[in-house]
Amino acid sequence: MTMTRTRPGDDTAAATPSEIVLDVDGLSVEYAGAGAPVRACTDVTFQLRRGEILGVVGESGSGKSTLITALTRLQRPPAVTTSGHVVFHPQSGEPGIDLVPLKPRALRALRWTSLSIVLQSAMDALNPVMRLGAQFVDVLRVHDRSMSNAAAWEEARRLLGLVGISADRARSYPHELSGGMRQRATIALALACRPELVVMDEPTTAVDVVMQRQILAQVLRLRREFGFAVVFVTHDLSLLLELADRIAVMYAGRIVELASAEDLYRTPLHPYTRGLRDSFPPLHAPVTRLEGIPGSPPDLRALPAGCPFAPRCPAVMDRCRDILPPLLSHGDPDSPDARSVACHLHDEELIP
Ligand code: SF4
Repeated sequence: MTMTRTRPGDDTAAATPSEIVLDVDGLSVEYAGAGAPVRACTDVTFQLRRGEILGVVGESGSGKSTLITALTRLQRPPAVTTSGHVVFHPQSGEPGIDLVPLKPRALRALRWTSLSIVLQSAMDALNPVMRLGAQFVDVLRVHDRSMSNAAAWEEARRLLGLVGISADRARSYPHELSGGMRQRATIALALACRPELVVMDEPTTAVDVVMQRQILAQVLRLRREFGFAVVFVTHDLSLLLELADRIAVMYAGRIVELASAEDLYRTPLHPYTRGLRDSFPPLHAPVTRLEGIPGSPPDLRALPAGCPFAPRCPAVMDRCRDILPPLLSHGDPDSPDARSVACHLHDEELIP
């Protein structure tokens, strides 16, 4: 097995540009304040293929939520993108669009139609004083001014049906729906204009396990039907193992491992990934004893010189405390199955 340095895009280098919907390269975000800046997201690089579901997982404070707001340009001061690019490649074959410097007007034109977002709380996405259907009608008609009011209401009812909500609910207000129904409605709303990319930020956190399973099954079915790609952020690795094609594990603002869901579950390379996997009940086996990860994430204002996981790592070595391990591609970097890890345990495998 060989390892080579990961350059931007190497993890999916076999894909041609038309197969890539999102190309994130060297993205860094800081929170400026009175003291040292908080480095919430550092040098994040990955590519997302059309129709792929990429899971992003990490504890709170790992930078995953900051990543989502930076990707979707929803971040607010004091968060600042200090470097990097987020390039969206339209399926039409038109040149890629870097979202980072995009003016608000151009960004609004892309929202819903090319890129849409499902937030953790459905009530943040839905207007509490508007009937559900009217909210769909607004979105549909802003992006297609030729659509009649009646056609938009018909489409709203059809979209609600896609997520198992009966058509007569279109006239309900959000507070008249259950939590699970509201969350499914926001997923239907996100799909209203047939986007190529949907970013989902912990969309099942506020619902019970049964509803969570229903929502995940619907996301998978709708993805098959419409072919959109998904970036799905959560703290729950077990959920991603069932949903995602590939998973990026974040720690202290960096991606520390990126692999297919199956590889990540069967042979996690990073000790943090192993700790996360062992913190959740196994997928298809009886629960024995769950191991947590001792300690807590580091202060992002004062990150250590070496590996940020070193104080918690059961495999820590001397070099870990002084040298930050770079994210390295594991195996043939030109293969779509390439995986990457940032850990000195795998250093020797990268020496040619
Ligand atoms: Fe542990 Fe060292 Fe790997 Fe960091 S680099 S995860 S401290 S073994």
